[in-house]
Amino acid sequence: LTFLGIESSCDDTAAAVVRAVGDRAEILSSVVEGQTTLHAAFGGVVPEIAARAHAERLDLCVERALSDAGLRLAELDGIAVTAGPGLIGGVLSGVMLAKGLATGSGLPLVGVNHLAGHALTPRLTDALAFPYLMLLVSGGHCQFLIARGADDFSRLGGSIDDAPGEAFDKTAKLLGLPQPGGPAVETEAAKGDPRRFAFPRPMLDRPGCDMSFSGLKTALLRARDAVVAEKAGITLQDRADLCAGFQAAVVDVLAEKTRRALALYLAGTPPAPALAVAGGVAANGPVREALMRVAAVAGVRFVAPPLRLCTDNAAMIAWAGIERFRTGARDGMDLQARPRWPLDRTAPALLGFGK
Ligand code: ATP
Ligand code: FE
Repeated sequence: LTFLGIESSCDDTAAAVVRAVGDRAEILSSVVEGQTTLHAAFGGVVPEIAARAHAERLDLCVERALSDAGLRLAELDGIAVTAGPGLIGGVLSGVMLAKGLATGSGLPLVGVNHLAGHALTPRLTDALAFPYLMLLVSGGHCQFLIARGADDFSRLGGSIDDAPGEAFDKTAKLLGLPQPGGPAVETEAAKGDPRRFAFPRPMLDRPGCDMSFSGLKTALLRARDAVVAEKAGITLQDRADLCAGFQAAVVDVLAEKTRRALALYLAGTPPAPALAVAGGVAANGPVREALMRVAAVAGVRFVAPPLRLCTDNAAMIAWAGIERFRTGARDGMDLQARPRWPLDRTAPALLGFGK
C-alpha cells in the first residue's frame, strides 16, 4: 500500500509518500516546509498567516513529495490528510486539497487525527505491536495513552494545563531565544547548571499520572526577574542556567509520571510490553534518555522515533492513513475539518490484555 499524506494543522506545511508492505514501511519522500520566519516577528504562530501560507504552499509540497518519490498520483493507493485537531484555517486547506485530489484521481480518502499520527509513528519506524504505552508529548498535548489499535487509544492521564512544548516555547520567549523554543532551550541547557535555580516538580506529591507545567513558566519568570533585579541584566551563563533548571524539572516530572503510567499499564499484563514516545518534545535528548532509563528499569522495550519524525511531518499522516485504511476506514466528501478532536475515549482506560 502506498499513500500520500498531507499535514497542515499548525505551522508546518508537509506532504509525504509512504509505502507499507506487511508490518514494514518505507518513507519514499517527506517534505516539510516550516513557517518560523513568517511568525518570528509576532512571538508565536499567527493563525491567519499560517492558513494563508498553507494555502499557498500545499500544492507545491504535494508535487515535490510525489516527484521525490518518483510516483504519479495514479500510482498510489490512497490519500491521507490531517482532519484535526489544529488551527482550523490550515486544517481546512489540507482537507480541501485532499478532497480535490481524491475526486480527480478516484483514490480513496482517509481523514487522520493529527495526534493519532504522532501516536502511531513508533509503528512506522519500529514495527511495534499493539498494545503499547504511549507518552504523547508535543506543542499542544501531553498524555499517557494505551494504544490498542489505529483508532483505539485510552488515556491514563496527562497534563491538566500547559503542554511541555508550549512551556519550552514560552521559556524561550521569556529569555529572548528563537522559536520553536524546544531546540533553542535544549542547546542552552547543555551549557548550564541545572542546580543553580530551584524549579518546582509540580504534582509529584500527588498520586496518579496527571501533570502540570504552567507553574514552571511562572517559576522561570520569577527566577529571571530576580537575576535581572540583582544585576540589572542577565548574562549568557544566567540564561543557560535558567534553561538547564527548567529542562531538568520537565525531565524529572515526565520521568516519574511515566514510571507510574508504566506500572498501571503493566498491571494489565500486556503480551509484549513496550513504552513509546512521540511528539515534538520527544526530540529532546535528556527527555529521551530519562524515558529510556525508566523503561530499562522496568525491563520494558523502549521506542523513540528519529527526531525529524517526532516533530510535525506528513509521513506520520500517510502511515496513520494506511493503518486506518487497513481497518476498513474510508472517508467521503463529507469529511469535516475539526479544530478540536480528542484522541482518547471518554471512558476510563480498560486494563487487562488477557483475551
Ligand atoms: P500538537 O501535536 O500537540 O498539535 P504541534 O503539532 O504544534 O502540537 P509538534 O510539532 O508535535 O507540536 O511539536 C512542536 C513542539 O515541540 C514545540 O513546542 C517545540 O518547542 C517542541 N520541541 C521540538 N524540539 C524540541 C526539543 N529538542 N526539546 C524540547 N521541545 C522540543
Ligand atoms: Fe504535532
